[in-house]
Amino acid sequence: MKYYSLRHQSPPVDFRTATITGQAPDGGLYFPETIPKFLPGFLRELRSLSKATVALNVMRPYVGSTIPEADLYRICAEAVDFEFPLVPVVEGVSALELFHGPTLAFKDVGARFMSRCLGYFAQRGDTPPVTVLVATSGDTGGAVASGFLGVPGVEVVILYPSGKVSPVQEQQLTTLGQNITALEVQGTFDDCQALVKQAFLDPELARRRFLTSANSINVARWLPQQLYYCFAMQQWPAGAPAPVVSVPSGNFGNLCAGLLAQASGLPLGHFIAACNANEPVPAYLRTGTYEPRPAVPTFSNAMDVGNPSNFVRILELFGNDLGRLRAALSADTVSDADTVAAIRQVWEQDGYMLDPHGAVAYTALRRYQTQHPDAAGMILATAHPVKFPDVVEPILGRAIELPQVVQALQGRTKRSVPLAVNYEDLKAYLM
Ligand SMILES: *Cc1c(COP(=O)(O)O)cnc(C)c1O
Repeated sequence: MKYYSLRHQSPPVDFRTATITGQAPDGGLYFPETIPKFLPGFLRELRSLSKATVALNVMRPYVGSTIPEADLYRICAEAVDFEFPLVPVVEGVSALELFHGPTLAFKDVGARFMSRCLGYFAQRGDTPPVTVLVATSGDTGGAVASGFLGVPGVEVVILYPSGKVSPVQEQQLTTLGQNITALEVQGTFDDCQALVKQAFLDPELARRRFLTSANSINVARWLPQQLYYCFAMQQWPAGAPAPVVSVPSGNFGNLCAGLLAQASGLPLGHFIAACNANEPVPAYLRTGTYEPRPAVPTFSNAMDVGNPSNFVRILELFGNDLGRLRAALSADTVSDADTVAAIRQVWEQDGYMLDPHGAVAYTALRRYQTQHPDAAGMILATAHPVKFPDVVEPILGRAIELPQVVQALQGRTKRSVPLAVNYEDLKAYLM
């Protein structure tokens, strides 16, 4: 499998090069040259396959010969080594819980897969020492820090917006030490992302350090996000109509991975891009005009993205055809007030605890179902509610019990390096 740049000014590369460089030299995102089709036997047998076998089948065409099958199997098995239960919430809505990994969010899957691939390439001496440079709106940083902790030959530098991530998120990215450094930026996630993008395009910096990304722009993080859509279908009632899938979306990597799995033949139904007040994509689907905007803060802060990187991949997947895209994908915007109302209602009436991101997806799915009453669906529950106590605990009227993996971080010392929104300061730090 080769990957081409969506800006078409750089040559196509294999999986190894796409993984270790992150972005194409022309600044474009990499996109697979062909969309592999799942074999009929794979789809027929899906329910009886182990998660690792599913993962191997899905990832093998994308990885090609760059990682031998036995190593790829081990990487796959480790990347998905936790539960992905599909839990009924109310009649017609199930939650695909993606928060049972080490940092309690779906990003663990992509981060674990990517770190192990990069570790594999580094171990073989295929790469110079690598610096993974990553901007986080909250959950990426922890997942990347946990995924890469102690990987030899890889240093990780994480930029996060000061005061805009939750305490648990901050602990996850500032307390590990070793090869992980957190830069605390006096700005928004979009500022962090802009700084990172600029660093990747700086030739002087490139001579000093081998930089790569671990955001969902990296194919090794983006592509494995297809896997849990397959795990969902292992659990979806046999013979039932294809599920409507509501995905809480920020940078649109997760949603784009679901659309890719569908394009490969996974029988998923209509998709809903569930957004908070940051809504360039819902606005695009309404008007046909795409306008990035500065991010505004919301309760679902991991989705506070004003210019989602992966949206260009979605357009590519649909041949830049707005009509086709509208047929496959709806989008909705959910306010903070409606997010809170959904968390409260689902908790009080159904005894299920949503986090703010899941609540956005839930609300968007329920609204869709008022127009399509027979459409059963699932939401992607992308994070554990304990990561957002400020929003969830007042509704519950009590503290959420900390899962074991989070308890382990309590009392550890925060270490971060303050950084102004100024590219020269970032550059000076990295040089
Ligand atoms: C990152 C994140 C999202 C958004 O995912 P994208 O792939 O960037 O669209 C949604 N929910 C949570 C909890 C996240 O951490």
